Amino acid sequence: MALKLADYKTDVHNDWCAGCGDFGIVNAIQMALAEMGVERDKAVMFSGIGCSGKTSHFINTYGVHTLHGRVLTFAQGAKIANPDLTVVAVGGDGDGLGIGAGHFVAAGRRNVDMTYIIFDNGVYGLTKGQASPTLKLGEKTKSLPSPNTNSNVNPIGLAIASGFTFVARGYSYDVRHLKDLIVQAVNHKGLSFLDVLQPCPTYNDLNTRDWYAGADLMDEAQKRHSRIYKLEDQKFDPLVHYGSEVEVNEKLSQALIKSLEWGNKIPTGVFYKNELTSPYTQRIKDKIPNYLENPPAKQKISENGTP
Ligand code: SF4
Repeated sequence: MALKLADYKTDVHNDWCAGCGDFGIVNAIQMALAEMGVERDKAVMFSGIGCSGKTSHFINTYGVHTLHGRVLTFAQGAKIANPDLTVVAVGGDGDGLGIGAGHFVAAGRRNVDMTYIIFDNGVYGLTKGQASPTLKLGEKTKSLPSPNTNSNVNPIGLAIASGFTFVARGYSYDVRHLKDLIVQAVNHKGLSFLDVLQPCPTYNDLNTRDWYAGADLMDEAQKRHSRIYKLEDQKFDPLVHYGSEVEVNEKLSQALIKSLEWGNKIPTGVFYKNELTSPYTQRIKDKIPNYLENPPAKQKISENGTP
């Protein structure tokens, strides 16, 4: 029987603040799973620590709420042990780009066939709004006593430089576009990364829904216009077509340049997509006899705990 959107929802109490962008991201993930018809017992949501860490409780698949900064290690392990699974990992920008930054870079080099979604709000929401790695130098949210003294990490640029083979950005209040990006990310054969801009109305009074909507911007006709725009509307081509070194370098360069765009214009959509780089499961199948036919998760465990 075909699954519906409601089948991916749970009745776990949700205590996120009113107006939090997290709601839109969870809805988009559920919509994407329903659209793809992913079987719930073949999918696992992994989450880190933070407000976004509760996501695995709200989606009716298998779920694992893991450790701070370590979500990628759990998720990659599950996919390598059982390549048949659909694996999605989620976490905040503090979780993934602060304490988890080393794992983020290492994951890019492996290219395990799974999806990582960062809920990017510029603050550590669960612990009262300290500056996270994506808050810009000199910015001061209402939760900070003084302006931020650290420069920010560029999540899109770091993902591209680390080797992620699908890199995109979504916005939590454009749920349909975000759903489309999640579908593309999950269908991608390799490690896909989604940076999702997610207003935190409780602690970040700079990057608010109104700010993203361009409430302070006026064009020549004195009409307000959104900061957010879609790369696909500009005919931006992120796909690596041939895989030559020259072409790959050109695509990486254009994606990196786009990743630096911020301020009055903020691009969303797919920055980089390389389907020619082999995913990790393909890389190791030649080293481990019958790996894909008989992966670790399907092997019988002996009494002494060895396969
Ligand atoms: Fe959302 Fe911020 Fe509240 Fe956390 S603190 S639930 S990120 S609004």
